[in-house]
Amino acid sequence: MIEDKNPQRTSIAQLGEFGLIDHLTKNFEINQASTLKGIGDDAAVLDFKDKKVVISTDIMVEGVHFDLAYMPLKHLGYKAVVTNVSDICAMNAKATQITVSIAVSNRFPLEALEELFQGITLAANEYKVDVIGGDTTSSQKGLIISITVLGEADADEIVYRNGAKATNLLVVTGDIGAAYMGLQVLEREKQVFQVNPNSQPDLELYTYLIERQLKPEARKDVRTLLHALEIKPTSMIDISDGLSSEIIHLCKQSKVGCNLYEDKLPLDPQFINVCEEFDIDSTTVAINGGEDYELLFTIPIEDFDKIKGNPNFSIIGHMTEESEGIHLVTRANTKIPLKARGWNALSESE
Ligand SMILES: [Mg+2]
Repeated sequence: MIEDKNPQRTSIAQLGEFGLIDHLTKNFEINQASTLKGIGDDAAVLDFKDKKVVISTDIMVEGVHFDLAYMPLKHLGYKAVVTNVSDICAMNAKATQITVSIAVSNRFPLEALEELFQGITLAANEYKVDVIGGDTTSSQKGLIISITVLGEADADEIVYRNGAKATNLLVVTGDIGAAYMGLQVLEREKQVFQVNPNSQPDLELYTYLIERQLKPEARKDVRTLLHALEIKPTSMIDISDGLSSEIIHLCKQSKVGCNLYEDKLPLDPQFINVCEEFDIDSTTVAINGGEDYELLFTIPIEDFDKIKGNPNFSIIGHMTEESEGIHLVTRANTKIPLKARGWNALSESE
């Protein structure tokens, strides 16, 4: 499906490891004041002064987390950075540095790694994170990419998963479910392509969904938006595995229950249309599909007036006493217990 438009293939072995690292990292810039020394010594040196430091790490394995049949390497590099930055956003912190480690088989020429690093560079510029180190090694099969991200925040800014209270409102940014349907569209096109390699996919009706799958963005803006509204969430998490799974994380850690309202779920019109086309229930996908990288958080009910009608945020439910359980309230006003199915489980059940 993704044709190799670049016939040039330079073997990685020709460069050697140090030549390869020099080549791939030459475009990285240093933007953060906290980066005293980036790439080029035995270790990076950082100075966060009186800030707290938050750290998260994520690994992506070919064939498990991505399929290079429809995931261009440039997008993969971008997405690998975004998924990490999103976890820092979910702490209400600002991402500042990343390290990037890759393991590649000799199936990948230098040009493929250049493409991967173009995506990483693009995301590093977009999110103003300095690439301060990493490692490169060979793998027997496939591509593995591991990124560690660091971020900073004042101690009193950091938001954990365990602070939700029984009467808090449950809020989500953006819209949900689109990334999962984007994946369904790409999987379908891959199968069409396998049967007929000459077929030209017409993906115009699916552009938003595909972009949400292939080039998601982390909500680095939410920290600023909430600060301007003078709202500090009581708990927060990013939506990587699916809304219901993330709600259950917040509830378990905060020892509260939750009512989530089906008619409040923010769904994009393209998402609704494609769910109909695939004959899949849009609510099921919206609450179980993952990889939206939106933020889910709780706020005191007193903050309702500050947030209502704001196009960046949707109030989708409220927290309850733990004993009341975790439920989806349907349009027909019936209560269904929420289960953490996650997007992997969703695809297995089909
Ligand atoms: Mg997360």
